[in-house]
Amino acid sequence: MADPHPKSNGIPLAGVIGWPVAHSRSPALHAHWLARYGIRGYYVPMAVQPEHLANVLHTLPQAGFVGANVTIPHKEAVLSLADVVSDRAALIGAANTLTFRPDGRMYADNTDGYGFIANLRQGVPGWRPDAGPAAVIGAGGAARAVVCALLESGAPEIRIANRTRLRAERIRSDFGPRVIVCDWVQAGNMLDGAATVVNATSMGMDGRPDLRVPMDILSAQAVVTDLVYTPLETAFLVKARDRGCEVVDGLGMLLHQAAPGFERWFGQTPEVDNDLRRAVLA
Ligand code: NAP
Repeated sequence: MADPHPKSNGIPLAGVIGWPVAHSRSPALHAHWLARYGIRGYYVPMAVQPEHLANVLHTLPQAGFVGANVTIPHKEAVLSLADVVSDRAALIGAANTLTFRPDGRMYADNTDGYGFIANLRQGVPGWRPDAGPAAVIGAGGAARAVVCALLESGAPEIRIANRTRLRAERIRSDFGPRVIVCDWVQAGNMLDGAATVVNATSMGMDGRPDLRVPMDILSAQAVVTDLVYTPLETAFLVKARDRGCEVVDGLGMLLHQAAPGFERWFGQTPEVDNDLRRAVLA
């Protein structure tokens, strides 16, 4: 097969750019896939300060890089540096996956929403995004990707509550009337009749207070997920499981969001399975 990235000299390079980046699990994730599929390539962590981002992105293709993931604090800034931005990334207002195309142009996409949906489909094979209203708690960058993906997948209504109401209002004005903004202090009410419930805040992460939303009216038919994956089992998920709901942890979203990048850069559709989970958790 012809090398799709001649500049990489047959050894494609990719990596994750963040500041800081040492905490990122992406290098372990991609290393697992590279080894598993016997691909001669590398995926490296790159700690890049914001003021150096443009220079680094300009230089990477010349050094054999075929793409990169971007993480905090660069996810928004890359939109103005890319030559082509996917509609999805533009609507979300952030990108996490860059591809350095052979024609020299940089393509920015956002795969968080894809990862979110793929994780729920894998975790609960009978889950249907169009089965009923979704309730999303939080309105940060991750919540925007979740809302975008749920709307694309046919969710009839998305109720959203956020501590800072203005951010939720912005999601409604960007994504349209299927989004309904609810009061933060009454977030429990939006669980009434919800088919899908999502914690998209950072509450419940190790070292942070748990997300405390009353679940008295949550139906046992609802599928509940948390974007937080440290710990894997958040108090929010435990409470939902106690009510009889099927729950899906956030690690799978991280694993699935990486798949489109790996496929574009290394030419192989990777599998998200328990071996990968173990490798990333190790
Ligand atoms: P972000 O843009 O900083 O948004 C943070 C969200 O958490 C906002 O809605 C914020 O509300 C809320 N929040 C923070 N502290 C709060 C508090 N004390 N009380 C109430 N609400 C609080 O972050 P993000 O990128 O959206 O990420 C959100 C979470 O998702 C993080 O834990 C991140 O690690 C996780 N995540 C996971 C994946 C995955 O693959 N599983 C992917 C992306 C993100 P305000 O607007 O009021 O500040």
